[in-house]
Amino acid sequence: MSRNVAKGQRQWVFSFPEGDGTNKQLLGGKGAQLAGMTSLGLPVPPGFTITTEACAQYYASGKTLPDGLWDQVLAAVKDLEETIGRGFGDPSDPLLVSVRSGAAISMPGMMDTVLNLGINEQVAAAIAQSTQKESFALDLHRRFIQMFGNVVLGIDGHLFDEIMVAKQREREVEQGAGLSPADFRDIIARFKAIIRSATGEDISDDPYVQLERAIRAVFESWNSRRAIAYRNSQGIPHDMHTAVNVQAMVFGNRDDDSSTGVLFTRNPSTGEKKLYGEYLRNAQGEDVVAGTSTPHDINYMAEEIPEIYRQLVEVSDLLEGHYRDIQDMEFTVEQGKLYMLQTRDGKRGAKAAVKAAVDMVAEGLITKEEAILRVDPEQIYQLLLPRFDEKTREAATSEGKLLGSGLGASPGAASGKLALTADTAADLGGKRVSVILARPETVAEDVHGIVAAAGVLTSRGGATSHAAVVARGLGKPSVTGAESIEINPEGGYIRCGDVTVKEGAEISIDGTSGEVFIGSLETVRPRFEEEKEMITLLSWADSERRLGVWANADSPLDAEVARGFGAEGIGLCRTEHMFFAPERLSVVQDMILAAHRSLQRPKDQELQEKYHNALAELELLQTADFEGVFRAMDGKTVVIRLLDPPLHEFLPSHERLQSELAELKAKGADAAILAEKEALAATVGELREVNPMLGLRGCRVGLMYPAINEMQARAIIRAAHNVSEEGVIVKPEIMVPLVSHANEMKRVRDGLESTIESLHQEEGISVSYKIGVMIETPRAALTAGEIAESAEFFSFGTNDLTQTAFAFSRDDAEGKFLMRYVDEGILDKNPFQVLDREGIGQLVEMACESGRKSRPDLEIGICGEHGGDPSSVEFFHEAGLDYVSASPYRVPVARLAAAQAALRSGARQ
Ligand code: PEP
Ligand code: MG
Repeated sequence: MSRNVAKGQRQWVFSFPEGDGTNKQLLGGKGAQLAGMTSLGLPVPPGFTITTEACAQYYASGKTLPDGLWDQVLAAVKDLEETIGRGFGDPSDPLLVSVRSGAAISMPGMMDTVLNLGINEQVAAAIAQSTQKESFALDLHRRFIQMFGNVVLGIDGHLFDEIMVAKQREREVEQGAGLSPADFRDIIARFKAIIRSATGEDISDDPYVQLERAIRAVFESWNSRRAIAYRNSQGIPHDMHTAVNVQAMVFGNRDDDSSTGVLFTRNPSTGEKKLYGEYLRNAQGEDVVAGTSTPHDINYMAEEIPEIYRQLVEVSDLLEGHYRDIQDMEFTVEQGKLYMLQTRDGKRGAKAAVKAAVDMVAEGLITKEEAILRVDPEQIYQLLLPRFDEKTREAATSEGKLLGSGLGASPGAASGKLALTADTAADLGGKRVSVILARPETVAEDVHGIVAAAGVLTSRGGATSHAAVVARGLGKPSVTGAESIEINPEGGYIRCGDVTVKEGAEISIDGTSGEVFIGSLETVRPRFEEEKEMITLLSWADSERRLGVWANADSPLDAEVARGFGAEGIGLCRTEHMFFAPERLSVVQDMILAAHRSLQRPKDQELQEKYHNALAELELLQTADFEGVFRAMDGKTVVIRLLDPPLHEFLPSHERLQSELAELKAKGADAAILAEKEALAATVGELREVNPMLGLRGCRVGLMYPAINEMQARAIIRAAHNVSEEGVIVKPEIMVPLVSHANEMKRVRDGLESTIESLHQEEGISVSYKIGVMIETPRAALTAGEIAESAEFFSFGTNDLTQTAFAFSRDDAEGKFLMRYVDEGILDKNPFQVLDREGIGQLVEMACESGRKSRPDLEIGICGEHGGDPSSVEFFHEAGLDYVSASPYRVPVARLAAAQAALRSGARQ
């Protein structure tokens, strides 16, 4: 306990040497790392940290400073004065301090800093005297007034900036350092006038009043609107609170022997192990961040100030070795002496995250397990997203097609027709036209347009704006805050400078770099096999995970891609996707029409024959398809699902047929043609459903039309037999969709078994196979024990399970209200992306338990979209599933997520 804490009092204030460098919860990230750097013997300007507990107490007690806090602050200031040998507010030899916020989790740019606190007119005069630099001293004073006015008194920062910029322009100088003392006096007088007119009071000259108000302002900044919004967007809890760091000032703007800069120990985009950063001579920290002057590359320092560069290299090595992670540091050099002001784990892009994690294992800095846990699985996905082909991008740039740029708010690249309203985007998107929706900013009413668009561009708003959040939620590329681009929906164009792009023309956006191009740029998929570090990381992940990772793939080509990504089986082959190929659709349509009509006229021999012939043709096609998939997955399980969608999905729409009929009649078309069209329209009309999602689909199709199931069973078993003759190892599993009652499953199973038995009897074909079920309705989950009696495996169809248990039609919900639900906090996340553990998760757990009770060797997987979502994968690991099946490009994501889940649950135990 510090000697500054009275008996019975809580310790609210820790000097840097007193602080525990690992206790971020108490000291905040910045405070803990200042304590850590101090204990490592690094040159840190002395100071102290007011704890996050003090901030929590401030709110708990109705915004009063906690008991004893102010006394401890006064004592800490006194210690600081003694250490430095200067007095706070002492005009003969003044001490100035900085006051900064710092929560346990870094919230970049969300809370505020006041520099040069403790200054007033006399103090500035004393500094001018002792340094013999009047402009420098006055500049410190004006910076203090500006920051105090903005951060503590809440005055719009632009008011100060405007005065400063106007003065620099008037004097034709780039940096404040070029202004004269008279200029600064004029600026200070005007700044003070702004404060007086905004608050009715003068800014306080008493350093202790300044300090108390700044501490309160930092506490208050925890609950500023933007801080709350940021925490909401990042899922950071609101009860962590912020610490306050008070630290002796050092001056990078003192003279030409002084400088200030920021530095990463490795390149945060590529991960290359080489110092990365920039510095400015004769400047204070905020000049680098504000971008008002152009800093130098840090590597230039090796020539310009070699001694400091050498020290920085040493400090970087020491800090990276100590924290065992990429460090992001701030430093200041005052009159040739280096000071470290901050270090924290550096934020990094996807490539850097993977490379640094793998390199650090090779360097002996971290273990393989740590490397696995360090990479966000979504970063793996980002590395595999389409990008613009580098050559095309360069060519487009040199041809002047780069229109402008904004913030890369959601990664990936997309091209499409420019749409300036959500309705236009939805319209074109519905016709399968690729569109880029551009809006000044988006609001909840625009979501249907975002859902339909390939990408989103806005001219206002940052990384947490509505457009950014919704686009990320939907996994679409987005560029936000492209302020240089005027987006004018009324005028029907977007414009940058004198270049105008009209609505309907092609544009391209890069959601990683934030660039916007005119025209359509070719996109390429990165080659997985060239991502060496990712492959290494995933191979480590494979040896840690328990969950199998399979893929959803509908064609031999998809299966090969999935296998390349490491899929250990096919968990879902949606056979209907094979039906949609244009050259097959007419056979499928013939089959459906014959099936439906022969149900009405079972004795019609001609119809029966048509039905039979169409099925025979499809059987041949499907057999060939399945052979391809089995070959691609040699040795691995392939789960093939029986036909699932409602039949009318394969037929022309009722509306279209009606208008075609009207047209034919108007033209006086041939009677036979007209009759055929009318018959088709009548069948389509009969097959129409009010709620197709809950209608004749899933296993119900095969129960109504058993010949379709028989055809599919024959194609699967014959294909398996054929390729096994070639020496391929086949493990076919037949899956029955959308079952809700055990009797459905039993009946379908009996039908399949008797078909397969006939194949055996008639052709001597014998293949071992399994028959299983999709658990994708609440009733199936509730009665899973009974269903398992006729099923050798379960596969959770969490897409339908989410739809049916929430009673949300996905197609309607995402475009109409679901994103609004998420926006307003009614739901935490989109449940179609991240499994809803409390509701759907319970159904999954219940079904696993009763299924395994009735069949102990039941194989259990999941093949809904959630199979590629890291948080859901963690849940499936904990629920004891055997495997997850994800879309091919999410297989690597699931491999890493499954390993992380295993490591985390191992650590918990
Ligand atoms: C599901 O419902 O989760 C599923 C995989 O089936 P589909 O998405 O094809 O309905
Ligand atoms: Mg389904």
